[in-house]
Amino acid sequence: MTTTITNFVHGEPVPVDPTHTYPLVSNVDGRTTAVVHEASVDTVDAAVRAARAALKGPWGKMSVPERAELLHEVARGINARFDEFVAAELADTGQPLHVIEHVFVPRGAANFDIFADIAKNVPTEAFEMTAKRGPVLNYAIRRPKGVIGVICPWNAPFLLMTWKVGPALASGNTVVVKPSEQTPRTTRLLADVMRDAGVPDGVFNVVHGFGPGSAGEFLTTNPGVDAITFTGETSTGEAIMRVAAKGVRDVSFELGGKNSGVVFADCDLDAAVEGIFRAAFLNTGQVCLGTEKVYVERPIFEAFRDKLVQRVEAVRYGRPDDEATTYGPLINLEHRDKVLGYYQRAVDEGATVVTGGGVPEVPDELKGGAWVQPTIWTGAPEDAAILHEEIFGPCCHLEPFDDEDAVLAKVNDTPYGLSSTVWTQNLSRAHRVAAAIDVGVVYVNSWFLRDLRTAFGGAKQSGIGREGGVHSFEFYTETKNICVQL
Ligand code: NAD
Repeated sequence: MTTTITNFVHGEPVPVDPTHTYPLVSNVDGRTTAVVHEASVDTVDAAVRAARAALKGPWGKMSVPERAELLHEVARGINARFDEFVAAELADTGQPLHVIEHVFVPRGAANFDIFADIAKNVPTEAFEMTAKRGPVLNYAIRRPKGVIGVICPWNAPFLLMTWKVGPALASGNTVVVKPSEQTPRTTRLLADVMRDAGVPDGVFNVVHGFGPGSAGEFLTTNPGVDAITFTGETSTGEAIMRVAAKGVRDVSFELGGKNSGVVFADCDLDAAVEGIFRAAFLNTGQVCLGTEKVYVERPIFEAFRDKLVQRVEAVRYGRPDDEATTYGPLINLEHRDKVLGYYQRAVDEGATVVTGGGVPEVPDELKGGAWVQPTIWTGAPEDAAILHEEIFGPCCHLEPFDDEDAVLAKVNDTPYGLSSTVWTQNLSRAHRVAAAIDVGVVYVNSWFLRDLRTAFGGAKQSGIGREGGVHSFEFYTETKNICVQL
């Protein structure tokens, strides 16, 4: 029997309208695995109205510790159904079990625990002053912004969605979530966990569908939505920003990137190879922090290249639930074609393929999947597309460098500014270089190490605002100053 994935509004699944469904196709083998109920404009509107009404109900009257306790209950609920979340994320993304079990699902639960705790500790401010009529006290309180529209991508669906929903709810807002059309399962499963945990009806709503002309557009243009948090492509961010202008609604954006790694000759070579391998190829290169340009100081260039190639050629393709699998497919055939287009363009523009560059040999049963080889290039000319456009695939270009200033100029020569990874054992250089790169996040001798209390986000066209720790609360709350003449 085919699974049907329903919308969820005001604490209940929305009855399926058979004329509004689309199939979910596995990226591992091309088989249809589920049918998703696409939300109509009326369903999205009902979700927004339910979220508005819930602000006035018991949820709006809860104290911060009471809300925090409910969110801890949600985290416990996720952990109690851990295997179901793993299976759902695995079916949606096709990524190997170990990444989903050790990173994606645990981080989803942690996002509720951590933001529940931070909500109890978010600082405000107070100022005393003296006016003509005597002393005055100013103090600030935070209030929820209202109904938050949450629009999510497909690359780490559960982790990225809860990264928004955790602090949004901890701040007392209500949400309408539109997961990516590719990866709806874990968001829908979370709705059941919310209900079972006792989160009041209407606080967490889920609508499925696409962007333009579908649930994404219906949600972002609905005047009942007070603010929009979005993670996805920069061009989609621009489209959402245009519609958010109507009603002057606030936006928080985590967008695309073209991230560089810089490897100095004094690095720990094995650690750097392993770090860049993860940065370029984890999740089949579909990570916003993914590193597609790597600059290696000339004395170690060849040694670095050879070790990285060896590491890449050892990946094992396979079904995600097979423990031996270390490498999964791209999210879908359309994205595979886009990545293969860049593979072809790289060659056309003069790059040398060091390894990969095409479609791998996989067993017959996987032939319908979105498989591509992890790929390394060298020697692309300065203006090659692979050095400037976000590919969002398992690939990187290696280039030797001799001079720190010159390499920094290349690293910063991009309209994006999400992240960078720097490898060196020289402490002064590490700090100097990290400070000079125009991005929101720099990793030194590491990559994708996340302390959820720290600021995360992009500079330039990689985003607006920061998520993480108290920074999330800057977006999800209004700060109100109260000025009292004593
Ligand atoms: P996408 O922009 O195509 O889609 C993201 C979401 O937006 C989906 O749910 C989609 O249905 C919806 N959408 C699309 N058009 C819309 C519209 N006009 N109005 C409303 N909603 C709309 O992105 P994607 O392909 O799902 O994700 C990959 C992209 O996300 C990459 O560019 C990647 O760099 C970026 N990303 C960034 C971060 C970060 O933290 N900066 C994290 C993960 C992914």
